[in-house]
Amino acid sequence: MRDVLRLSRAMTHKCVLLGLPAGGGKVVLPEREGVDWPGAYHYLGEVVQRLGGRYCTGPDVGTGPDELAFVAERTEFVTRPDPTGPGQLADATAEGVFAGIGASLRHLEGEEDWSARTIVVQGLGAVGSRLAARLAAAGARVIGVDLDAERAQDVGRELDIDLVDSSREFDVPCDVFAPCALGGVLHDLTVPRLACRVVAGAANNVLARPAHGDALHERGILYAPDFVISSGALIRGARFQLEGRREPVAAIGEHIGTTLSELLEVARQEGRPPARWAFDEAEARIRKRRDRAVDGGTP
Ligand code: NAD
Repeated sequence: MRDVLRLSRAMTHKCVLLGLPAGGGKVVLPEREGVDWPGAYHYLGEVVQRLGGRYCTGPDVGTGPDELAFVAERTEFVTRPDPTGPGQLADATAEGVFAGIGASLRHLEGEEDWSARTIVVQGLGAVGSRLAARLAAAGARVIGVDLDAERAQDVGRELDIDLVDSSREFDVPCDVFAPCALGGVLHDLTVPRLACRVVAGAANNVLARPAHGDALHERGILYAPDFVISSGALIRGARFQLEGRREPVAAIGEHIGTTLSELLEVARQEGRPPARWAFDEAEARIRKRRDRAVDGGTP
């Protein structure tokens, strides 16, 4: 429950920082023995439908096209990667992370210089495998890792990238560590082990606590706030739901890259950790929206 509340807030922060006229929300379906999954997803669809469009749901960890097909039997307010939908959401996320890694490297050194970079991608699932392919195509050396050893071998073979054993990824000297698995992977035990200069990836809520963003800053490691760099799918889904159009992935990458560059620059000028700056800025914008709404204006 705590994780889903953090995720909801992260979605709201993505919306306000990327300029989308929406807020955030998330759903969690607790796993219990004997759950009738089709029934659970049908019920979720009914609840979402009752909200009449104020909330739109979509894919995330553990909920893919098969599960969303059940949801879609009960509501129109679901974003699905089918031919009538907004297009592949993981493509949009991976492109945003790729652009964000580029923006982070330019911020540090003035250029991406992909062929001189080593990038560790943690998690080779929907987003991580796409990101690894994009980075390898740009000329970077990619080192992948996945808890699922078979998946790691398959992706490693397909993309011809190096692999590292699970849990060793934090020790690999590299330019960029790209967390694309689950949240909370950077904590008291892993931050001191990192041997990178940038942390930039797709996973939501990468930092176990905000203080871990400060710890990265103190170690001289640039942290690209997750609620900016991982917003590709949200942008694509929201544009489709709100405006009925398919946002091209290149435009999404550019939007995220530019937003992140500006944010990193202001944080540098103010001498603050980027994650702190971005969090405070998002909260300030939410307060402004709320005040405008209370005054009778458009939120
Ligand atoms: P996914 O389930 O397809 O892939 C996750 C992969 O990470 C799996 O292959 C899993 O085996 C692996 N993994 C889990 N824990 C690991 C660990 N400790 N070490 C190494 N590998 C591990 O999920 P996804 O859709 O690729 O999403 C990845 C992350 O990005 C999630 O945190 C998700 O919330 C976030 N995200 C995804 C999207 C999207 O468009 N799919 C959008 C925004 C954010």
